[in-house]
Amino acid sequence: MIDLPFLKGHVAAVMGLGKSGLSAAKALLNSGAEVWAWDDKEETRALALKQGIPLVDLSTCDWKRPEIVVWSPGIPHTWPRPHPIAELARKAGRPILCDIDLLLRARSEASYVAITGTNGKSTTTSLIGHIFKKAGRKVAVGGNLGTPALDLEPLARAGTYVLELSSYQLELVPSAGFGVAVLLNMTPDHLGRHGGMDGYIAAKRRIFDNQVAPATAIVGIDDEHGRRICSELKSLARSVVPISAETRVSGGIHAKDGLLIDDRFGKNETVIDLNNVRSLPGRHNWQNAAAAYAAATASGLEQGAIVEAIRSFPGLAHRQEFVGIKDGVRFINDSKATNADAAEKALLCYDAVYWILGGQAKEGGIDSLSPHFDRVRHAFLIGEAANAFAHSLEGLADFTHCGDLRTATRAAFEMARRDGVEGAVVLLSPACASWDQFKSFEDRGDQFRQFVSELPDGERGAP
Ligand code: ADP
Repeated sequence: MIDLPFLKGHVAAVMGLGKSGLSAAKALLNSGAEVWAWDDKEETRALALKQGIPLVDLSTCDWKRPEIVVWSPGIPHTWPRPHPIAELARKAGRPILCDIDLLLRARSEASYVAITGTNGKSTTTSLIGHIFKKAGRKVAVGGNLGTPALDLEPLARAGTYVLELSSYQLELVPSAGFGVAVLLNMTPDHLGRHGGMDGYIAAKRRIFDNQVAPATAIVGIDDEHGRRICSELKSLARSVVPISAETRVSGGIHAKDGLLIDDRFGKNETVIDLNNVRSLPGRHNWQNAAAAYAAATASGLEQGAIVEAIRSFPGLAHRQEFVGIKDGVRFINDSKATNADAAEKALLCYDAVYWILGGQAKEGGIDSLSPHFDRVRHAFLIGEAANAFAHSLEGLADFTHCGDLRTATRAAFEMARRDGVEGAVVLLSPACASWDQFKSFEDRGDQFRQFVSELPDGERGAP
């Protein structure tokens, strides 16, 4: 837990008592602050109270007393309309910030690598953390991923915090000043919360504000927004490393066709062939690897150690996670793919796919994936979206209605085994939310793993 000595004896309001709010309230109490905690949901307040967190109704309190407001980033404070408590705090002139800001203030002597982007944040953050650990560096990994900022271990000068940051968090970090900052990519997302694309871009761009040494900005240039930010930063004479998974980048790092090439110093040096790294399949992961390599070199890590660590990266659960092989059929858990865009990334990685999909449908369905249906040997439909998806697949790929995941897993395995096609993959990449049949995407992926383990052991053995 992080100590916040500068708030000892001060009143701090904490709005939102989910994972990060609870962690902030506890760190504040532990540091001797007077905590005024609140959440709109009664049951959440009751849970907090049970854990010894003092509650004060922030919609009726005396706003002269709290000096800061630690805000849960998930709660709207500007768009689509400000929460009334945010309005009260602003009227009283109280700064609204999130737990990341407190971490930066409390551990200002440590180094920071911050990662944002529409997609790939968790993978890149974990990969960077893994590289630092393998290289023997003192590192703590968290933020939007896993451990909330104030539950991380206190690090001193030689330590590095590797933080995944969402656009919501970035809006609430007035002390931002990261040594190494990564912006992977930007496509329209959460626009309602940012008042449109410009607001979303502005929030993401804050990751590059007030950077401190080595002051390296790593920018993915495979989308127009990244390209624009990259040239803006260059025109400000900032130290920028452009990265791409699509084209050669002179003066930057690219991974076209999977070969990671470092051209920062004009040497066009081949670093590693990512095609041989099973935990990072697909072009999207080449972008993540390029960003991680750039962040690690900017932090002074040796190239040899970085390459070795990339090779040993175990990958993240539920993101094209390899879960086993039976009778020559591989099983891949991509439960995190809750929309068509994410499922597309997985489909593109395999040629003979026995595809398990469905769940709670997202807007747009899977029509956009039709150019890749030739990779699908058969689709196994589950959940609420089954009928709509059957309609999209009709005439383009064969499918079976399976109802639930256990039935689909068995049916997919049986068919793949019977077909005996080289490189057959049973892929759970649902292109849907999980809420209709599961507690979360993690629960869905865990159940898939379980169902795979229950399948009869291979007779043909692993190839
Ligand atoms: P995030 O933390 O930003 O949600 P993750 O690393 O958890 O990202 O990856 C989630 C899904 O997003 C993956 O399963 C994959 O389908 C897709 N993805 C991962 N990296 C990228 C990337 N660099 N560009 C586009 N899509 C990606």
